[in-house]
Amino acid sequence: MKIQSYDELLYSKHRLSLMLFLFLNFATSLFSMLRLHSTLHIALTQPVLLISVMCCALLIWMILLPQWKFPLLNIVASIIGLLWAWQIYIKNEMVFYFDGSFLLISLLSVFFIGAIALGDHLLAFCLHITPASLTALLLDNGHDTAMLLFIIIMPLIGFALHHVMLRRRDQFTRQLVRQLYEEKETLSDLSMLDPLTGLYNRRGLKNRLDNILENHSGSHFVLLLDIDHFKAYNDSYGHAMGDQALSRVSFAIRDAVRSRDIVARYGGEEFLVLLTNVNESIARKLAERIRECVLALEIPHRNNKEVSTHVTVSAGFAPMLADDFEAAIANADRALYLAKNRGRNTILSAGELELTSLRQPETADSL
Ligand code: GH3
Ligand code: MG
Ligand code: MG
Repeated sequence: MKIQSYDELLYSKHRLSLMLFLFLNFATSLFSMLRLHSTLHIALTQPVLLISVMCCALLIWMILLPQWKFPLLNIVASIIGLLWAWQIYIKNEMVFYFDGSFLLISLLSVFFIGAIALGDHLLAFCLHITPASLTALLLDNGHDTAMLLFIIIMPLIGFALHHVMLRRRDQFTRQLVRQLYEEKETLSDLSMLDPLTGLYNRRGLKNRLDNILENHSGSHFVLLLDIDHFKAYNDSYGHAMGDQALSRVSFAIRDAVRSRDIVARYGGEEFLVLLTNVNESIARKLAERIRECVLALEIPHRNNKEVSTHVTVSAGFAPMLADDFEAAIANADRALYLAKNRGRNTILSAGELELTSLRQPETADSL
């Protein structure tokens, strides 16, 4: 079974502890029967029989149904603890005349099983040893009280300290896992954003597009925008100013569209806007609003030849038909190309492009 999370890891540890606990109790109960087989009615005491049958049945069940999830450890530890206490009570009456250390050995056996299988489960350990410990103390009648208390208290102190350390380690690991997860999320978010503009990069765009195509059927448009004569801008004002202009233009684009539209930096000074659930007329209005907003920034551009004295953008847009994003980009790009040739600071749709080529078949060649 592949473990996916820290909680699953803890659960699998819990399950293994339970299986080990059942196995040890099953083996001890068998041993207990065999050891006493010279006297048949003692060998078949009810508690030992119940322990062996219960452990065997549960073990088989857990092996056959590994997907079955139920935190049984505490319940099983209590029941088997009670059965061992019952067994100690029955056996004590039969062996007292030849074995004075019977109670000590019995108690040690119960602790031994608990220590091996329930070392990381303090509550289950306590539930397992309490009935046998109380029974031994009661049956002892004050003969070996100090020794019995020693056997009971020393492991309890050890387990309590071990439990505290375990809790701390567990908290630390959980915190570490949470931190790693958050950092992974942050890195994944950052890897989808363009550092200069804060817009989606191509990877982020692809991610959002997949999401939209999966969850929102509707009519979507692809809008491609390109800053006019930006090379000349860099040449006149320097690369740093160019970066600033890019950043301001990207803000203007983001502000001009609706929050559900996806804006990405598609290339150096090219932007792509995925206009979701729009018709052609709304797509045109949004594109026009972007063009006006960029112009309204009034970023001086003395080399925006014959277009404007400020930074401007040209755009082409096309519908996304049958969820074919690549075809829509290619159409929008052709419209953008024509918009550039129509003098820039211009918006054109792929539909207009088709009309133009119908009216003037030679236009494409002349570009
Ligand atoms: P057109 O109007 O035809 O689009 O002309 P243009 O000069 O904008 O187009 P061209 O493709 O010739 O040049 C694009 C320029 O954009 C070139 C490059 O230096 C600039 N550019 C691309 N990315 C960045 C960037 O991150 N920062 C800056 N400052 N400039 C960039
Ligand atoms: Mg370009
Ligand atoms: Mg350009």
